[in-house]
Amino acid sequence: MASSARHTAHHADVVIVGAGLAGLSAAHQLTCAGVGVTVLEAADRPGGRMTTDRIDGFRLDRSGQLLNTAFPDLRRTPGLGALALRPFLPGVLVHADGRNHRIGGEARGAKSAKRAFTTARALATATRASRATGLDQARLDAALARLATLPTDRLLARPDRPTAATLAGRGLPARTIEGFLRPLLASLLSDPELTTSSRCADLVLRGFARGRLCLPAGGAGTVAELLAGLLPPGTVRTGVRATSADITSVTTADHGEIGCRSVIVATGARAAADLLPGLRLPGFHPVTVLHHTAAEAPPCDAALIVTGGRGGPVAHTTVASEVDPERAPAGRVLITSTVLGRAAGTPVPELDRTARAQLARVYGLAPDDFELLTAHHDADAVPAMPAPHDVRRPVRLLSGLYVCGDHRDTSTVQGALFSGRRAAHALLRDLGIRPEQDDAQALRVA
Ligand SMILES: Cc1cc2nc3c(=O)[nH]c(=O)nc-3n(C[C@H](O)[C@H](O)[C@H](O)COP(=O)(O)OP(=O)(O)OC[C@H]3O[C@@H](n4cnc5c(N)ncnc54)[C@H](O)[C@@H]3O)c2cc1C
Repeated sequence: MASSARHTAHHADVVIVGAGLAGLSAAHQLTCAGVGVTVLEAADRPGGRMTTDRIDGFRLDRSGQLLNTAFPDLRRTPGLGALALRPFLPGVLVHADGRNHRIGGEARGAKSAKRAFTTARALATATRASRATGLDQARLDAALARLATLPTDRLLARPDRPTAATLAGRGLPARTIEGFLRPLLASLLSDPELTTSSRCADLVLRGFARGRLCLPAGGAGTVAELLAGLLPPGTVRTGVRATSADITSVTTADHGEIGCRSVIVATGARAAADLLPGLRLPGFHPVTVLHHTAAEAPPCDAALIVTGGRGGPVAHTTVASEVDPERAPAGRVLITSTVLGRAAGTPVPELDRTARAQLARVYGLAPDDFELLTAHHDADAVPAMPAPHDVRRPVRLLSGLYVCGDHRDTSTVQGALFSGRRAAHALLRDLGIRPEQDDAQALRVA
């Protein structure tokens, strides 16, 4: 369990700076290999960007996390076997022309083998709703089915360009692209301008076609709580901010210097660039997450509704309490909405007003039916991944000094977990220890 740090300096085999998913993933790899680890976390709890606040019985994520059952590291990170995932209905609802176009009619629990085609059919239904032709649907089906089966090495061998510039070349009609692909990708990448590398966009679209979008049961914070809780007691020291790091020691703001044999810097990109001069600082996509409650539950089931930012600032929204009832007290409704790009910087009172007007149209309620619970803005929410983007940035700086975090990989939960595994494995190899392959665990999706 995490322990509040009161004592001063000590010594550890490995010090990991940052208890987000990357640092915790690295800590699990190392402790499983028998290496002693101390994780220093500046905040009062682990989780980093995957943190959940408990307010009046609601569980409110600071980020509107969309996980995907196709994220390989959800299955192979030691400690995540107990994670429960609450799936959205397959596909998404697209809100356009004042209506929600129903896509994905499949019931929960459908067989995974059919998933890619089900998703393709779901998307086809969306384009049909936006007056696409049968031929459009067939093309979309075919494009997604091809992507779903494309091996990673072939996907990464494709030319890398800004996603927006590649959409027209995908052999799909403009209405499919504008009505469906563009808003979906903007939401999955937190990038309304679609400047993201087309390879990264293909990776997330392939994940969408292969898997099922989910929320972690009980809030995003449960992922880190699970990981931290399974480490040896005292491994994670919260409330300890590192001010400098090198191969043999980490200096902290209030807890002295900690000697060690190796250091992994597992902070976000900005703090990593401060601690490791010379590390490139990426741009960031800002995100604001709004949590509203409403007098009644809108009739949208457990759907993810994508708007593409049309008709208001919200890019996607869901009745989170329908997807995951643990997030709201009994009988209460939680609606979680995500605002991307420039709109994310709008002052909260103005954002709430315009978002409620938009949500009223999306959910068929009145603007005054919504009450804002919290708004959380993060200017550095998601490291930008402009083309060309290397999805396997080096994690080994020197023997004894490593860096991980979503900024070394893809700016996703999958990227953070995988970067932690890569850094830990590089460190183990430097110690002469052969990293073990982790067995894939079954996911608990219900
Ligand atoms: C609003 C939002 C929405 C998102 N939506 C999605 C999504 O839908 N799907 C998806 O896959 N991903 C999404 N992401 C991205 C995902 O949350 C991140 O990729 C992932 O959580 C990053 O984990 P990390 O461990 O790399 O970094 P972080 O979570 O940032 O962890 C770094 C940790 O280091 C600590 N730290 C920093 N400096 C110091 C220091 N000097 N000393 C000690 N500790 C320090 C921090 O407090 C933090 O706990 C979203 C992110 C945000 C913010």
